Amino acid sequence: MRILLVEDEAKTQAFLKKGLTEQGYVVDSAADGVEGLFLADTVHFDLIILDVMLPKLNGWQVIQELRQKNKQTPVLFLTARDSIEDRVKGLQLGADDYLVKPFAFSELMARIHSLLRRGQVHQEEVLTIADMEIDCLRHKVKRDGNIIELTQKEFALLSLLARRKGEVMSRTMIAEQVWDMNFDSDTNIIDVAIRRLRQKVDNPYDTKLIHTARGIGYVLEAR
Ligand code: CA
Repeated sequence: MRILLVEDEAKTQAFLKKGLTEQGYVVDSAADGVEGLFLADTVHFDLIILDVMLPKLNGWQVIQELRQKNKQTPVLFLTARDSIEDRVKGLQLGADDYLVKPFAFSELMARIHSLLRRGQVHQEEVLTIADMEIDCLRHKVKRDGNIIELTQKEFALLSLLARRKGEVMSRTMIAEQVWDMNFDSDTNIIDVAIRRLRQKVDNPYDTKLIHTARGIGYVLEAR
């Protein structure tokens, strides 16, 4: 799976590139609209993540040019403003979906999976760990057939651990991906969130799935 990331903010670009690469995607990036359009036109991508406010050519112009050239690569817009006009404009110009900044990395992943699936590319949408099922698109969690109600953050946290099941996720990695791109404050917030998540998904059941890796972070797995 190859993704083109067109984003001029260096920090955001680096963060997204790192995150997507960790998820197994091959990521090419461009920092302005002209470079983005050139790459999109010359290299095959499965998906384009396109920021709206870009130097040289903005995201609207890039997608307009692409669609005029009959390039139908799915496009996910990143926009800083959540206005109806912006959304409508993007969709009218041929965007497939959009995300309003700031967003959680897990939200981006959910949109990417959804877009790639529409493009008939098989992506895992339901993650299963022991008797737990996590539906990443519908944001539903079940254990032993019981529906578990989670907040958005709890879901993001659980699905992150589930996608990386068996792998220890450090508090910093969790903080970056679930809370904020530039998270650098007290990571105690993660321990609190994990405690709440455990109360919902682990405490009522005999088999515990969330485990503490002392001094590092957390891992989700059936032991
Ligand atoms: Ca921008």
